[in-house]
Amino acid sequence: MLYFQRASKEGRTNDIEKYSTKQASGVQKIETLGGDYALKWDDETQMSVNAHNALVSAFFKAGGVFDRLVESCPLRLTSPNASTNRETLGAAIVGMDFWRIRRTLSRHVPCRACRYANGQFPDGGFWPGGLAYNLCTKKALDLGWCQMDFARLRDVIGLGPLFFDVMSAIEPRRCGHPAHKVTSDEMGAVYSRLFELAADAMGGAASECGFDLGIRHLDYVNHLWHEIGFWKSNRYKGFLSGVFPVWELVYHGVVFYTSDRWLQNHTYGNEDRSNGAFDFGWGIYDRNEDPEKALKMVEFGSRPILYTHSFSDIPSIVRAWREYRPVRHLQKEEMTEHREICRNVFETAYGDGSRTVVNYGSAAFGLDGISVPSLGYVLIGPDDSTRTFAFDSRDGLAEQTRQNEDTGNTARRR
Ligand SMILES: [Zn+2]
Repeated sequence: MLYFQRASKEGRTNDIEKYSTKQASGVQKIETLGGDYALKWDDETQMSVNAHNALVSAFFKAGGVFDRLVESCPLRLTSPNASTNRETLGAAIVGMDFWRIRRTLSRHVPCRACRYANGQFPDGGFWPGGLAYNLCTKKALDLGWCQMDFARLRDVIGLGPLFFDVMSAIEPRRCGHPAHKVTSDEMGAVYSRLFELAADAMGGAASECGFDLGIRHLDYVNHLWHEIGFWKSNRYKGFLSGVFPVWELVYHGVVFYTSDRWLQNHTYGNEDRSNGAFDFGWGIYDRNEDPEKALKMVEFGSRPILYTHSFSDIPSIVRAWREYRPVRHLQKEEMTEHREICRNVFETAYGDGSRTVVNYGSAAFGLDGISVPSLGYVLIGPDDSTRTFAFDSRDGLAEQTRQNEDTGNTARRR
């Protein structure tokens, strides 16, 4: 099998000095569109992902396809340090090999990378172009690179909340480089400042989770954390009696959110995790929507979030929109109260006087003359008007009956 050979004989290491350019025995250098690869045949190892790139590269070179692509590329780069279009396209086609591009950029030097306190570099993975290491975020801020990039992004893609993946979902990363040490607290302030700068430049900022760090500069977060899902899967082993929308009581009306990782993609159905995936089922769903998820979205004031790269998911997105539409006007209201009325029945109140009463139980629940159906909810407006929704497997959370304002007739609504 063809596999990608690390440059060092010592195998995986965090010490950048040990990633020498010396080749291990049996390795041959192969020129690709994106730079040189070190490849080695091995009968026992599975072909590594990166090794495919050499084959893809050979395919693109054959027959002059790549030359024609370079000639027709409209990209114009004006910096004196800019790569050629041939290099840029080569790197794009071959994958993560940015060696030929980045070697000309003074940004990418080890003195600006994060280090552990013991001097080692955190291993950002080893790519065909060499070892990846993590740029010190504080260094990038101090040098003005982030600010420069935000302005460029605004010019290229226009205004819109800039999304920072992961950053609000982790403890801020420390840097132990002796020339630019950063504690976790200090890095938290850096992250928060980046959100603020992005909001100024782009008109908004967003990130993955809802920790207090930086939240005042965020407009939406993908999800809060895993509490509901962990609780449902009994990970807390009896320590918790339930999960309640405490964060939501603080931030609802200020930040858009989905309350839990467990609630993401909720109209796709249940995930197939038989492949051992940590949280996502990598796009494999059974399309049987879980009524508890649909109801939890309402109880916790969440807005739906669905990840996809496939047109076939559009019906599920439409379904999520139909479930969300009756309560979407509550997104900008403060959540003022949440209480458990009785087992399996929860009431959530909002600043405009609206309330939702959600019933997870197997029987209808009566409240002040209002019947809340099993696996359904009632939306009570500021004027005490009511709309009743119940889950059915075909339509999800659909409105049961609605008073026709003109005739007073009760009509089934679809
Ligand atoms: Zn640093």
